[in-house]
Amino acid sequence: MGAKTAEIPNEYLNILRNYGGRVTLIVTTLLQRLHVSGRIYSPRQMKDELSETLNCNIGFPTIYRAIDRLMQCRLMHRMHRDDEQAMFFLCRHPDHEHHHHFICTICRRVFEIDMCLAHQYESHVSRDLEASVTKHIMQLEGVCKGCR
Ligand SMILES: [Zn+2]
Ligand SMILES: [Zn+2]
Ligand SMILES: [Zn+2]
Repeated sequence: MGAKTAEIPNEYLNILRNYGGRVTLIVTTLLQRLHVSGRIYSPRQMKDELSETLNCNIGFPTIYRAIDRLMQCRLMHRMHRDDEQAMFFLCRHPDHEHHHHFICTICRRVFEIDMCLAHQYESHVSRDLEASVTKHIMQLEGVCKGCR
């Protein structure tokens, strides 16, 4: 397990440990695989890849528990999709407070976007509606440089 966890950035492990609870081999292996890949994953793909990596048959309940845990720590995000298909990805900047992600629709790679111009938009809406805007959700999709 040493060699596998060594490939996981410490910031991920620190977030996991600080969150509390047991850090299982399933969770660290999933974290490592998604980190290396940098792509969106369906639960089925996670199940297949983890079963192969750990050389045993891992069930969906175990996969969903690992997903839940990583989402609770905000290390993992669920992609917003029109077809509601469950796709997840790892955030490479979990320590960055507010940012967005660009997802390539061809290679399924996820890119961190450390910029948000929506705050101006929020203040405009707040003024216009005399409301208090507390949240916005933005997901960018397209074709990355490598796939163009
Ligand atoms: Zn991110
Ligand atoms: Zn691409
Ligand atoms: Zn934003």
